[in-house]
Amino acid sequence: MIPYGFHDIQPEDTEAVLSVLRSDWLTQGPWIPKFEQAVAECCGAAHAVAVNSATSALHIACLALDLGPGDWLWTSPNTFVASANCGIYCGAQVDFVDIDPRTYNLSVESLAEKLSQAERQGCLPKVVIPVHFAGQACEMVRIRKLADQYGFRIIEDASHAIGARHLGESVGNCRYSDITIFSFHPVKIITTGEGGVATTNDAELAARMQRLRCHGITREPGLMQWEPHGPWYYQQIELGYNYRMTDMQAALGYSQLQRLDRYVLQRHQLKDRYDIQLSELPVIIPSQHPDSYSSLHLYPIQIINSHGRPDRLTVFQALKTAGIGVNVHYIPVHTQPYYQRMGFKVGDYPNAELYYSRAISLPMFATLSEEGQDLVISALRGALK
Ligand SMILES: *Cc1c(COP(=O)(O)O)cnc(C)c1O
Repeated sequence: MIPYGFHDIQPEDTEAVLSVLRSDWLTQGPWIPKFEQAVAECCGAAHAVAVNSATSALHIACLALDLGPGDWLWTSPNTFVASANCGIYCGAQVDFVDIDPRTYNLSVESLAEKLSQAERQGCLPKVVIPVHFAGQACEMVRIRKLADQYGFRIIEDASHAIGARHLGESVGNCRYSDITIFSFHPVKIITTGEGGVATTNDAELAARMQRLRCHGITREPGLMQWEPHGPWYYQQIELGYNYRMTDMQAALGYSQLQRLDRYVLQRHQLKDRYDIQLSELPVIIPSQHPDSYSSLHLYPIQIINSHGRPDRLTVFQALKTAGIGVNVHYIPVHTQPYYQRMGFKVGDYPNAELYYSRAISLPMFATLSEEGQDLVISALRGALK
């Protein structure tokens, strides 16, 4: 079976993890700041805060921006549920903005329209989370302008997009946002097993997120309510969590990060081959925005079910039978039962729903060989007959 995504572990990764296991610190040790600094440098951000998942990163990012009851968080329906759930964790209400049918990212036109409506109704969002779907950056210049006009904060969900570029700069530098988050789940571009990072240029937001990942505890006398009792003293000054990353994970992430550019390049080589070889098939291939250099986490195609051709389900099953581990990204979040219980309905975001009804993610990972890719392509050709 060729999977749709797969991690790559090299001997230097194994050695890095073993070196931590042989050391004095399994967690809260020197690899955390070392990894954080490497991620910050790689993205061109001032600060990085490592946590145990991107979901945790989204949660503490929302908390650091003071999202809470009575506030609204908006995101794209074409994402993993975590991009929306983080708002619910904070007691906020969640709403969605439909996607652009070309990029499958949140549509800036729909966002502008929804904002002017929300302004009239007095329910503007406090936080908007653009998701860089498949590794392709959203139109951040235009989203930033709207943020300045309407006064919302921006968290970029760049779970798919480490190593991606936007207008010639690295995604994660937070030029247009308050915070950017990344995921290091094994299907993503680089991995720490489980893990995530939040980057920011704001020292206060970084310090707040560091505190929130560790129970809301501080050891800084300047932040305490009264004089410390002694050198052992700490104070819990707000409610935080245990969202810490281990040093084994940080060492693995640091080692993986050294190969990031190569991984993204390999993904682009695969994309170029897919683009050429699928061009004569009755499928829609993913279009690339000229401002974006995608990290190509995914290669989602759309199956057009017309002229008596097989539909998405038939093609999906035929590919699985042929040993191709395809997947579908994403079931629109608002159609999940949990969100339908909040009042969302099928039909609310037609572009995301139409896209979902046709989408299949073909295998795309750095170590997929050309021979493996050729098997995928010939299986797809057979499935579309
Ligand atoms: C994977 C993913 C997440 C969650 O990442 P975890 O590290 O598994 O918590 C959030 N948002 C998007 C868009 C993702 O793809």
